[in-house]
Amino acid sequence: MSASVVHSDALIVGAGSSGSIVAELLSSDPSCSVTVLEAGVGLSDPALAAQAADVTQLPIGAASSLVRRYLGELTGGDSHALTIVRGATIGGSGAVNGGYFCRGLPGDFAGFPLGWSWPEVLESFRAIETDFDFGGPQHGDSGPIPVRRSREMCSGTMQFNEYAARAGFGWIPDLNDATETVVAGAGAVPLNVTADGVRTGPGAAYLEPALFRANLHVLTRTRVLRIDIRGGRAVAVEAVGEEGVVRLSADRIVLCAGAIGSAHLLMLSGVGQEGMLRAAGIPLRAALAVGAGCADHPEWLVPAPWPGTPGRPVLESVLHVGNLEIRPYTAGFASMIGDAAFPDPPQVGVALMTPRARGRIGLVSADPQVAPRIEYRYDSEPEDLAELSGGVDLVQQLMGVTGDVGPPRWSTSQHLCGSAPIGSDDDERAVLDAHCRVRGVEGLWVIDGSALPRITSRGPHATIAMLAHRAATLMCGQGLSR
Ligand SMILES: Cc1cc2nc3c(=O)[nH]c(=O)nc-3n(C[C@H](O)[C@H](O)[C@H](O)COP(=O)(O)OP(=O)(O)OC[C@H]3O[C@@H](n4cnc5c(N)ncnc54)[C@H](O)[C@@H]3O)c2cc1C
Repeated sequence: MSASVVHSDALIVGAGSSGSIVAELLSSDPSCSVTVLEAGVGLSDPALAAQAADVTQLPIGAASSLVRRYLGELTGGDSHALTIVRGATIGGSGAVNGGYFCRGLPGDFAGFPLGWSWPEVLESFRAIETDFDFGGPQHGDSGPIPVRRSREMCSGTMQFNEYAARAGFGWIPDLNDATETVVAGAGAVPLNVTADGVRTGPGAAYLEPALFRANLHVLTRTRVLRIDIRGGRAVAVEAVGEEGVVRLSADRIVLCAGAIGSAHLLMLSGVGQEGMLRAAGIPLRAALAVGAGCADHPEWLVPAPWPGTPGRPVLESVLHVGNLEIRPYTAGFASMIGDAAFPDPPQVGVALMTPRARGRIGLVSADPQVAPRIEYRYDSEPEDLAELSGGVDLVQQLMGVTGDVGPPRWSTSQHLCGSAPIGSDDDERAVLDAHCRVRGVEGLWVIDGSALPRITSRGPHATIAMLAHRAATLMCGQGLSR
């Protein structure tokens, strides 16, 4: 371990979607030494870099070394346990995801504390992107993340769009334009890709171009085990890397380990629900509702009546109807993740975008190697089930399919968030203040999907990237002391 990284001005845990943006922005000040610790692999191996770049594949199959796997319980009674994944590399989940980069809607920010109004977040949405299809005040024209939509869609997607049009749904030209007044309709998915199909999330757009900076050190294959909190202040982290266990101190410690990773680290470090920490034998540093009200977008799958088209982005258009997002996937999942010997048929996803169900991430052991328990509780709200069921009926009607589809085919969108939400001072659920600082602990931030106070009514990636940009900008504005 180089002596230069033993103490840093800012130490960032996780080089994923958020960590990449935070690291780039903080290290843009050459006088600020920034260290990033990433549990997953780097992308210097050209084969791994190619997997992260190819937007037509989700490199999350059984052989992938770019992800960490967890067990997720989708419904009560463990009847729908599923292996879920999170990206574990430079760019994190944003380096292995579907490339759908659709902003949350203005209404999604109603539950945010002061400082996160739509005009304020719009500034960061614009700053992070260059939209190659649309300009004007809704869009960025000089940000690092390229956004574009498929012009020529695959035959299955075209078929689906036609079904939607025939049923009377309008076409929404720009799903990232909040001034569009269409309530229901289909539209082309904004994708974070280059013109030649290179997935370009925050890892590729922000962190990789900054790696040459002398004041930025990124250590891959280095897993943080816990944060050392003394006298109410986060002073260091304990991590394990190729050289064994190390202790790295910093003036500011920023958790960007994702909704599962950051919640787990907080709990391992004594920040969480008192009873849960006591049961695991962890001394309490701050009693906060960590992991208590997280959420994801539940999804039911319906077989599509058209053949798949491998070699396309996984989703080229969507239909929004009320709280539902209908997703005509371009290929079967096994094909997309590289696990199919032969192309498998595609499916149409029916996803509930504003679910009432809240999940839980719970500490199982004080041993950092033991994964937390992840319960989605997707079947805990009858109204959610009714909406999903209505969505399946709608899809069948659109496609002219009749007959019983059988029991629901549960899935998840892999959009878990909200495990350490920001909130105002009187919000009991709020783990973080409006600047993403952990309440009751000095020198500690959480800037990633954990911080969302409610799940967005669109896929979360664009909103999480926006949040990282805005929170890091607030940090920079404050200077180094707190
Ligand atoms: C397969 C898949 C497909 C998806 N598709 C889409 C999509 O198309 N559109 C969309 O909007 N959203 C999508 N999502 C969700 C979206 O990608 C994530 O919500 C977003 O990237 C999360 O960003 P983050 O910064 O919170 O965490 P991440 O990007 O997951 O980053 C967390 C990083 O922290 C590292 N880490 C964790 N624990 C530690 C530790 N203890 N020490 C050191 N490092 C650690 C991890 O290895 C990881 O690199 C998808 C997610 C997945 C998994």
